Amino acid sequence: MKKNGNLIVISGPSGVGKSTLVKRAMEVLPDLCFSVSCTTRSPRPGEEHGKAYYFLSHEEFAERVERGEFLEHAGVFANRYGTLKSEVINRIERGEEVILDIDVQGARQIRQAAENDPVIRNAAQFILIAPPDMPSLAGRLRNRNTESEEQLKLRIDAAANELKNYRLYDFIVVNDDLDKAADDLISVFKAIRLRTANIQEELFQ
Ligand code: ADP
Ligand code: 5GP
Repeated sequence: MKKNGNLIVISGPSGVGKSTLVKRAMEVLPDLCFSVSCTTRSPRPGEEHGKAYYFLSHEEFAERVERGEFLEHAGVFANRYGTLKSEVINRIERGEEVILDIDVQGARQIRQAAENDPVIRNAAQFILIAPPDMPSLAGRLRNRNTESEEQLKLRIDAAANELKNYRLYDFIVVNDDLDKAADDLISVFKAIRLRTANIQEELFQ
């Protein structure tokens, strides 16, 4: 029986815990698949090409934009980031659940794409991960110890602006206590699976 796919967009300020929460959810719901984005930023320690990101030069990124390979792309914190159509479209057509960890500009582009494309419209759901407060967010970002002072400032300054766009999202998960937030995110994923749009019509005819 054919299943409908889900395209699950997750956004939230840098350091809010998106990667941590998605990793937890994927351990519990192994059918979820993660869309690996392209970026021009340098890998952090432990980040592998093809797993965390496809790490591209600025030239290669620009060529891929030119060839129309991206579903969405944006400039974030002085680098370029983008979602490849090849990571997403075939999978949702096959009925898979694809997770995108992208910023608010990318989320807005997916909302626009959904207006013209019924496959995306049927599949897209938007989740915002929010911090309990700004000092906790800044503390997590510092503790992660992966950014230069300049990058830290860019990321903290951008956070309030990203949160102002909360109405773009269908669900909001506040990441205060990690276990509770992971449970909430898993509940949202389960609820998305139960959407009417995912129900097989032939069951009701
Ligand atoms: P993002 O992917 O949103 O940039 P990360 O998942 O890398 O964020 O999390 C940023 C840092 O905050 C990591 O060091 C992570 O271990 C930590 N962290 C995540 N969630 C919590 C939480 N609920 N409480 C405290 N620290 C957290
Ligand atoms: P980081 O450099 O911390 O991995 O990510 C920085 C920001 O870029 C995060 O907000 C993340 O969601 C966003 N991002 C990652 N991949 C993409 C992408 O493919 N497209 C867009 N628009 N944003 C992305």
